[in-house]
Amino acid sequence: MPLVVGIDGDDTLWHNERVFSMTETRFQALVAPWAPEESDLEALLLKTEQANLSALGYGVKSFTLSMIETAVTVSEGRIPAGVIAEIIAAGKEMLAHPVELLDGVAETIEAIGARWPIILVTKGDLFHQESKIARSGLLPHIQAVEIVSEKDPDTYRNVLARAGVDPADFVMVGDSLRSDIVPTLEVGGRAVHVPGTFREWELDRADVVPDASERWRRVTSIREVPAVLSSFDRSR
Ligand SMILES: [Mg+2]
Repeated sequence: MPLVVGIDGDDTLWHNERVFSMTETRFQALVAPWAPEESDLEALLLKTEQANLSALGYGVKSFTLSMIETAVTVSEGRIPAGVIAEIIAAGKEMLAHPVELLDGVAETIEAIGARWPIILVTKGDLFHQESKIARSGLLPHIQAVEIVSEKDPDTYRNVLARAGVDPADFVMVGDSLRSDIVPTLEVGGRAVHVPGTFREWELDRADVVPDASERWRRVTSIREVPAVLSSFDRSR
């Protein structure tokens, strides 16, 4: 059985947090004139996002609804419809934003795909993720795509069962300890952590760092991933 490589999308293959951060800055500028002077709009938006996760899930569309909800709440309903329209426009611009691959991704994914089957495992809006994957130019190197609503151990068990892959033959590569590394180790797979270079999303932060183990490594660049995969492949 060949090693099978799972790869995360947002902030592992392409920029994502940077786009959210730009929109948050724009949101704050739009809403600040309608909010009490002492309001911490960044913290309030994050709180709304967190409260909405179970009902709305991840992605730009739920983020846009959370921006609108925060604007209405913090202004006690006084926010003008024109500002709401600008928030909606900002959300739509995020969806249309060009897919910008991270440094080294194009050649590394080509190199990995030439040796091992790749399953892209990403969470967020189905429609937006499909569009980003199509625009990334990476599809020729990827065997299968799994767009999931949450990345917990059950998700990985289901993904592996669908692909007919034994967890011992699976390596997950991603920027998030909480979503990519910890649950993969829990189901018996291996993992390579490639921390993001921009910022880590608050709500994707891990409560625990996995114990030092032969089953996971941290690298500073995606370019180091093929060498780690080779060593995992040899040590099975
Ligand atoms: Mg990610």
